[in-house]
Amino acid sequence: MSSRQNRRMVSLLLLALLVPCGVLGFLSVRIIRQEGELRERRRLEEEERAAERIARRLLGRLERVREQELRAWADQARNRGQRLAQNPATALVGRVKDGRLIAPWDDDASPREFLEATREPGFAKRVRQGEQAELVERQPAKASALYREVLRASRRPEQRGEALLLLARALESSSAPGRAVAVQEEILALPSSIIDDQGLPIRLYAASQLAKDPGHEKALAAALHEILAEPRWLSPPACYLLRDLSASLTEVAPDLPGAVHRRLLEVEQVLALRDEYPKLATLEEAARRTTNGEPVWLPFGDDELWLVRTNPRLGELPPSVVAVRAEPISSGLEAPGLAGLSAARDPQSRPLGPSFPGLYLAASPLDARATTGWSLPQQFYLAALALALTVALLGGYLLWRDVRRELGMAELRGHFVSSVSHELRTPLTAIRMFAETLREGRLEREETREEYLDTIVSESERLTRLVDNVLDFSRIERGRKTYRFRPTSLGAVVRAAARAVQYPLASQGFRLKAEVEEDLSAARADPDALEQAVLNLLTNAMKYSGDARDIDLRLRSIDGRAEIQVVDRGIGIPAEEQTRVFEKFYRSPTRENELLPGTGLGLTLVEHVARAHGGSVAVESRPGEGSTFSIRIPLEGGR
Ligand code: ADP
Repeated sequence: MSSRQNRRMVSLLLLALLVPCGVLGFLSVRIIRQEGELRERRRLEEEERAAERIARRLLGRLERVREQELRAWADQARNRGQRLAQNPATALVGRVKDGRLIAPWDDDASPREFLEATREPGFAKRVRQGEQAELVERQPAKASALYREVLRASRRPEQRGEALLLLARALESSSAPGRAVAVQEEILALPSSIIDDQGLPIRLYAASQLAKDPGHEKALAAALHEILAEPRWLSPPACYLLRDLSASLTEVAPDLPGAVHRRLLEVEQVLALRDEYPKLATLEEAARRTTNGEPVWLPFGDDELWLVRTNPRLGELPPSVVAVRAEPISSGLEAPGLAGLSAARDPQSRPLGPSFPGLYLAASPLDARATTGWSLPQQFYLAALALALTVALLGGYLLWRDVRRELGMAELRGHFVSSVSHELRTPLTAIRMFAETLREGRLEREETREEYLDTIVSESERLTRLVDNVLDFSRIERGRKTYRFRPTSLGAVVRAAARAVQYPLASQGFRLKAEVEEDLSAARADPDALEQAVLNLLTNAMKYSGDARDIDLRLRSIDGRAEIQVVDRGIGIPAEEQTRVFEKFYRSPTRENELLPGTGLGLTLVEHVARAHGGSVAVESRPGEGSTFSIRIPLEGGR
């Protein structure tokens, strides 16, 4: 096939195959990408719905907590004192006064009660006498006696506490420090609810004194635990003092510093909220305008996330702030792909809606993984694309192979026509030349005349063989070739073939050595077809002998089969061509071969005949050393 034809075929294949494949691939990739986008959009919509659902439920929970707290406050309103949370999720319920958030410990009634009690005229007067003796007259013993008086006359716990504190102080500076320790221990045992005007439970004063001497650790730790267990807000100074004290008690109470730290963080968060309150209130006000009056909760806090909402004056209740811890209130509200509330925005998180400005739902890590894989429809499209491409490419390859084979065949046929014409012309020319010479009658010698006549007969036999070959081939191609099998003596067939080539062999100087096993049993064979096959082999042996002049023709039986061998010592056949020589029209593409006449059909016919007889044909050959062709067919009766 010429390279132009090749190029044309490749371009056609490119057009017919690769272009549709490319378009198919492009469309599939587009569909897959669209499918991905669709999936992403569906996921986002699903998340949005989930976020809305979570926001609604969260809002419901928060509002219920707020109502619970405010109702409880309204019930407690007549009682004085701190407002303690009703719901475990509540972080803070605080009063707002003149636009400022009042810290819960500042709203505590205990310091006020302490002041009231210690300023009672009778009590205050006795205390002043004691202080006169202690601080002005500098007589601690006298002062101690006077303070004991005060203690005895005390009617309220706060007065008792104050009297004990004063007594301890006086004893401390008198020469009876042992007695002072006993008094401090008594103070340490007082209830935690006695809180002085500085916001410190007075037990803590005794605790800080007792902490200076060893031996009181257990009592101190127990007292500190009690103070922490008391359901009330501790003022910042109380927390700081607790922190210092707990740091020295880690041996007896290793859990104390942690507990104190948590209380301190809470108190500091309240302080921060108090500072931020005006800003938060403005923010909330602005946000509420966008929610059509729906409540607004704002996130607040670095250590612990709180959700904060302000309340206007409600009947008896002053304006207030409710802060709820985000974690407990939102527990169980996760949706697929979303987990946990957060005040920090990242690309994966989703805003929770207008009621929660600045609050986000964080994407769960599981979901991030799910979005990177291929979805089922995408996998299906990919598989379909791969299948379509494979089928198209395979089909294209098969098509290309067939077209190539057809083109090769067309080329071989072209060669065949010219070889047949050439082969016909050679014997015809010889016949005509010799016949004309004979007609002119100019030949004087009788032997020459005989020779000319032999040549004419031999050449016409060659012509007949050629025409027979072509006709047989044509019959084979059309499936019309028939064989007439009958019991045949193979010896007779082989000898007939040898006779037929006797003249051309002799005229070209060949020596034919025939070895025929005589007592061979007959075979079921078509003697004419078989003779033609042997003749083809003998003709080839002559054609491809080069300078060698010895040819062997053998007939023998091997393992119940007859073997007919034609052996030459000629040019031989390279190994890679040995199977191809039986293909139709195949001729060895060497320069010498092109000069020899031939159609490429001889061996094709030999193989066909051998197969038709239930046998086979094989070749053994080495270039330069010659070839041996063997036809093997079964014998009747196996011998
Ligand atoms: P043709 O002889 O007409 O070319 P064949 O089918 O008989 O066609 O042979 C096919 C090819 O096999 C030949 O062209 C030749 O190259 C090779 N061939 C056949 N017989 C021999 C042989 N005895 N020695 C070497 N080459 C051979």
